[in-house]
Amino acid sequence: MSRIVYVNGEFLPEAEAKISVFDRGFLFADGVYEVTSVLGGKLIDFEGHRARLHRSLTELEIPAPVGDEELLSIHRELVERNGIEEGMVYMQVTRGAADRDFIYPADPKPSLVLFTQVMSLTESPKAEKGLNIVSIEDQRWARRDIKTVQLLYPSMGKMAAKAAGADDAWMVEEGAVTEGTSNNAYIVTRDGKIVTRQLSNAILHGITRKAVLRFAREAQMVVEERAFTIEEAQDAAEAFVTSATTFVMPVVSIDGVTLGDGTPGPVTRRLREIYLDEAQKLGV
Ligand code: PMP
Repeated sequence: MSRIVYVNGEFLPEAEAKISVFDRGFLFADGVYEVTSVLGGKLIDFEGHRARLHRSLTELEIPAPVGDEELLSIHRELVERNGIEEGMVYMQVTRGAADRDFIYPADPKPSLVLFTQVMSLTESPKAEKGLNIVSIEDQRWARRDIKTVQLLYPSMGKMAAKAAGADDAWMVEEGAVTEGTSNNAYIVTRDGKIVTRQLSNAILHGITRKAVLRFAREAQMVVEERAFTIEEAQDAAEAFVTSATTFVMPVVSIDGVTLGDGTPGPVTRRLREIYLDEAQKLGV
């Protein structure tokens, strides 16, 4: 089935969509992206993704290709044209095509590409069973707060997890967990505190993280934003990850050590429920 994708002002069948071989996204990974989930045909936390896109663009001095209103209407039109009820919209902005040069072009023409993917998000077998996690060294660059398209190390991490018979990897730097390969990482301590790494350049500032921590605090749960080790996580009552397409996803083992009884814990289940309820109310 052919999708309609958006490329620089046009809605086109995917086979007709083209980007220059000189695009700096292709040559330098000089681009940023966002993934917004779609539930019931609505965009979840669009405002958060829009705001983070702007932050990433500003950090890299890439001009915004279109205004905010237009960005939302492109998202909506793409969801509608592809009849997406549940899935995601991927949006990528690169610095555009220019003669190959490490120096940014003086007059960049940023490229804007969006496409949709149908996905089953709410009914997920992984959410029932929980993820098995392995730890790997965090060998990414140091500006993980910018959501760039350099995803080769996370991809290698997922391959390492797969080779080890696990579902995903948590990355460790100087003895502490930074985050998952494509998600933020959390533990629930035996006394019920939710612990996740504090914001800095070391991790991506997850849009789902922000929402989940707000919902947790509103539900009178105690949240601690600090670093934790793999050993502390292995001794925790529960663990989970968050991202725009997985929401709140339980973790049931870390480096072969089973957490609790090896099934998704009550705090994690409750947070997934709250997130799904509350986030859908904010869909646009
Ligand atoms: N950390 C990393 C490294 C990620 O790639 C992602 C998802 N792209 C996240 C965290 C989660 O961010 P969000 O909740 O905004 O999807």
